[in-house]
Amino acid sequence: MQKVGFFKSIHVKIVLIYILLILIAMQIIGLYFARELEDTLKDSFTNSIGERVDLVEFSVREEIIKKRGEEDPTIEQSLRTVLYSIGSDDINQIRVIDKNFRILATSETTNQSIVGQRSTDSLVRQSIASETPFDNIKLDLQRRDRIWVLASPIIYQGEVLGTIYLESNIETVYRQMNQINRILAGGTATALVITLILGILISQTITRPISDMRRQAQAMAKGNFSRKVRVYGNDEIGQLAIAFNHLTNRLQEAQSTTEGERRKLASVLSNMTEGVIATDRKGRIILINDPALRLLRVPRDMVLHRPISSVLGIETQYTFEDLIHMKESINLDFSSPERPYILLANFSVIQKETGFVNGLITVLHDNTEQEKIDMERREFVANVSHELRTPLTTMRSYLEALVDGAWQDQELAPAFLNVTQTETERMIRLVNDLLQLSKLDSSDYDLNKEFVDFNKFFNRIIDRFEMSKSQQVQFQRLLPESQFFVEIDTDKLTQVIDNIISNALKYSPDGGNIRFGIIVQDGFIKAMISDDGMGIPKDNVERIFDRFYRVDRARARSMGGSGLGLAIAREMIEAHGGAIWAESEEGHGTTIFFTLPFELDEAGEWD
Ligand code: ATP
Ligand code: MG
Repeated sequence: MQKVGFFKSIHVKIVLIYILLILIAMQIIGLYFARELEDTLKDSFTNSIGERVDLVEFSVREEIIKKRGEEDPTIEQSLRTVLYSIGSDDINQIRVIDKNFRILATSETTNQSIVGQRSTDSLVRQSIASETPFDNIKLDLQRRDRIWVLASPIIYQGEVLGTIYLESNIETVYRQMNQINRILAGGTATALVITLILGILISQTITRPISDMRRQAQAMAKGNFSRKVRVYGNDEIGQLAIAFNHLTNRLQEAQSTTEGERRKLASVLSNMTEGVIATDRKGRIILINDPALRLLRVPRDMVLHRPISSVLGIETQYTFEDLIHMKESINLDFSSPERPYILLANFSVIQKETGFVNGLITVLHDNTEQEKIDMERREFVANVSHELRTPLTTMRSYLEALVDGAWQDQELAPAFLNVTQTETERMIRLVNDLLQLSKLDSSDYDLNKEFVDFNKFFNRIIDRFEMSKSQQVQFQRLLPESQFFVEIDTDKLTQVIDNIISNALKYSPDGGNIRFGIIVQDGFIKAMISDDGMGIPKDNVERIFDRFYRVDRARARSMGGSGLGLAIAREMIEAHGGAIWAESEEGHGTTIFFTLPFELDEAGEWD
């Protein structure tokens, strides 16, 4: 939280402003008041002294006029009497000085010796010369008092007779002034203290809601919307607080809506099966969901902020510009030699109304299965056409030979017709196989299941082959004695076993053995047909169950095989809920295993 400096806080500022205002006001009032007071006090002091001086002047003038002309030494005597009669506290001394600056009398009893001397005082001289009173304030160095000095000329009928010189102690006025100034200073100090306290209180009422709001704004920035600002009144600050609380509520609502939307979007993105990648307008990845990471098999931090075309591995074929204008989806081939892996990418552009491209959204999904199915279908069609074309071309050539005249040949004609008949039968077989496969492919076929003693059922099929076999092949039965009942579609399973045994016979040399075995377990039975024939190369063992797959095409066809037998067998066994597989060693023989579901308890019931 940011701290506000002491002198920057509104609180202190308000208090300081208050104090300054009071100081200035008091200063102005004090100055004005003191000056006025000083003037008034001085005026009243000088007036009261002046009145007395007028009195003295009057008496002195009378004396001087009375004694004029006559050389009467008593003038000094009578003047002294006048001056003595004035005697007052605030008047230090009065002197009477004639126009020749000679001191005629003084009220100072201790200083009578100066009478008759000439006065050197400049004030006296000035007042006599200019016939106007002069006054001044001087400092009494001994008593450290201020003395008011006045020289007032005595004028009779426009003639200056002399001057009255007066010294009086004006210090009382200044003392009074000092006292009043002290009272004023005390008042100012008291006013300041009161102002300080009031200022603190008042500024608190203003700053408290503001600092409340400041704290709340800081809490809001951290995502805490639970606080409320206290509303102290209905003034501007109170209304600001109300507006602030309202704003908080709105902000909280907006925040929770966006948060909710964000969470919804995130859960949609992470729970969908498609991979979603979003880029900025330069094509760099800014968002990628978990399925996309899974599909691309990359960690998130390796792809974020990287160009999308390089992450998808198509930077050599397409630029980001190309992707923006890409209308159709593209296949991304991540296949390895062992495993096909193909992703399908769809692109859509994020555009503003102005047409400005803001980014690109790419949706990925795993297209491997679809691609595989498509490929198998193409292969299947090619295989079927090829398988049909071979007998048809054979037949055509024989028929052409017959048309060209061979039909008349007693020996050739039957042989040729025989070939066409075999080829036709082979085609019929092939078409029947295909029909059967397509029936198995469509989901709405059902098995005609019944409980049969599997041992008996298996033996009967082996018997049939043993009777009709043309080779010198030995059959060995490693079958259990007991009966066990398995729920199967006998027609379909006969077909399966027929194919496996005929394969074993086809690929067994004369003098070989074919072994038959059954293992009964709780849950399933496992049947096994094993030969000592040529075997199957290791890499191809699993593929013999694919449609049209033959290890050695030329040889197998010469034996009349189309490569559909084991594919049909696998479909049928799987429809029964079992499994079929092969084990083989090239040159030493092949064993085909298949399982069927079986429960021991049910067998017991039939005992
Ligand atoms: P069809 O059964 O349709 O007449 P086919 O026998 O050639 O033709 P499958 O039964 O599906 O076809 O067998 C596929 C291939 O597996 C055979 O062509 C053969 O190459 C190989 N094969 C199957 N069984 C054996 C076996 N016991 N020994 C050696 N190779 C076998
Ligand atoms: Mg076969």
